[in-house]
Formats: sequence, structure tokens, C-alpha cells
Amino acid sequence: MRVTGTIEEVRQWMAPPRAAGQRIGLVPTMGALHVGHVSLIEEAVKRCEVVVVSLFVNPTQFGPEEDFNKYPRPFEEDLAICQRHGVDVVFTPSPSEMYPRENLTWVNVTGITEPLCGRSRPGHFRGVTTVCTKLFNIVGPDVAFFGQKDAQQATVIRRMVADLNMPLEIVVCPTFRQGDGLAVSSRNQYLSAQQRKDATAIYKALQEGRRMIEAGAVDPILVCERVEAVIRRVPAMQIEYVSLVDPETLQPVQRLDGAVLIAVAARLGPARLIDNILVDSRSS
Ligand code: AMP
Repeated sequence: MRVTGTIEEVRQWMAPPRAAGQRIGLVPTMGALHVGHVSLIEEAVKRCEVVVVSLFVNPTQFGPEEDFNKYPRPFEEDLAICQRHGVDVVFTPSPSEMYPRENLTWVNVTGITEPLCGRSRPGHFRGVTTVCTKLFNIVGPDVAFFGQKDAQQATVIRRMVADLNMPLEIVVCPTFRQGDGLAVSSRNQYLSAQQRKDATAIYKALQEGRRMIEAGAVDPILVCERVEAVIRRVPAMQIEYVSLVDPETLQPVQRLDGAVLIAVAARLGPARLIDNILVDSRSS
């Protein structure tokens, strides 16, 4: 496994496999790797001959009040995980390598970045789409792997790649969960033992939503209220949103008669937790 922090080196390393027609896979991450990231890496190793993992806590996707400084950066552990899972190249640039001057050029996806997380995190998706564009330009992958855990991010990236004719495929991997259903996240480390237990209310609530839809519910408002009620059983949980949206447009659905994304964001102590499930109400 080779590790570099420079754009020049990663470009040099990618040239021979590209010339040889090998399939290059990129897994963009902010590090603090966990089993959820590993599931993306494993999928990349299965599908690609060369696998690049980027470890970069991207400052431009954090708001001024957010956790950029305290975001965990266990660099050596991350490298060991990459090594164990067959990663070929780790790209771990510094902020000044990625943003050597004031950044004047941004990639901005409109519309679908406004609801859900876009509402409470202005500028977040602009940071994500800009850094992903830079990573795609630097590494030149044939495929990039993202997690369904960040459903809005995956939809936004897919749309950006389609709208701008970027020459790569986007693969979205299922959300990896702990045994009790909690979606694995680097931010779960912020939780106390009690908060960690309380956090399972989110997945329980999502499943309750699924159960209602599969039992034939057609009114999204009723499902939404029920999901909220399950989360509210944990008094410490502050709901930011519960939304039933179309998985492509991310607009609220008026009636449950097709694929629907149930998406939740909530604050629990120091952590902001997000989760979602896709339900196809036609298959009920
Ligand atoms: P992050 O390091 O949080 O930016 O995440 C890097 C990638 O891993 C993103 O595409 C996430 O959606 C994905 N990811 C994070 N947690 C999970 C999980 N529990 N299951 C699947 N993918 C995940």
C-alpha cells in the first residue's frame, strides 16, 4: 500500500494503471474509518483493480459552528484499516494541498441541496460537491463509492456527475448498521454510553415508518407523525427533521404510492445523527 499527501504523486501513481486499462475505484472519506467505510472499501476491492481511499477532513463542508476542529483524526489506525482491506493507495492531503489559495471556484448543485440537511447546513453540499469534483479530477477514478447512510449526499453527487458529464460511475452502498440497528458513524464516538443506547430510537422509528407503509398507509403526514413520536420517546433527542421524500427529487411526497425515502436528522447531546431508509410502498 502506498500513502501520499500530494496531488502530484497520486496523479503519477494513477497514470500507469489507467494506461493499462485497469479499473480505478475511489472511496472518498473523512477518515476515522469504521465498518461502514470498510463495507465501501470491500465493494471497491471487489469491483476494481486499483483502489484509492482518500482521507481528508474537508474544511469547506463544515459550518463555522460545526465540529471541524474536534472531528476525530486517528491517522495510524486509518492506515492500518486500509492496509488490512487491500487498499492500494491512500491519499491524505492537507487542507493547504487541497486549497492552496482562496477558493474562488465552486461546484454548486441547486434545488436538491436545499431541503433536509441543506436547511440546517448552508454551504455544506457546496463543500462536498466541490471537494468530490477536485478528488475526481486528481485521482481520475472509473468508479467512486458512496454510502446510502448519507442519502442526500449520494443523490447530490449522482446528479452532479450526470449534469456535468463526469466520466465515472457512482456506486451507492447500503447503510452498515450495528446489531441494534444504529447506523455506524464516525460521530457516534461523541456519544456517552446512555446516549449510545438512546440513539437506537432513530432506527426503531424508521422501521415503524416502514411497517406503516407496508401495512398500506397512504398519508405521509401520518407516517411522519408516528416516526417523530417514536423518536420523542427519548426526551434528550432533538428532532431536526423527519421527512418522507422522493428519493430522486428529495421533495416531500404527497401520497405514498411509490418509492419513498424516510429521512431523519436529530441532535443527541454533542452529536448530530442522520439516518434514512428507502421503502417502496408499491411492493406492500
Ligand atoms: P465520511 O467519512 O463520514 O464522509 O463518509 C465517507 C463515506 O462513507 C460516505 O460516502 C458515507 O456515506 C459512507 N458511510 C459512512 N457511514 C456509513 C455506513 N454506516 N454505512 C455505509 N456507508 C457509510
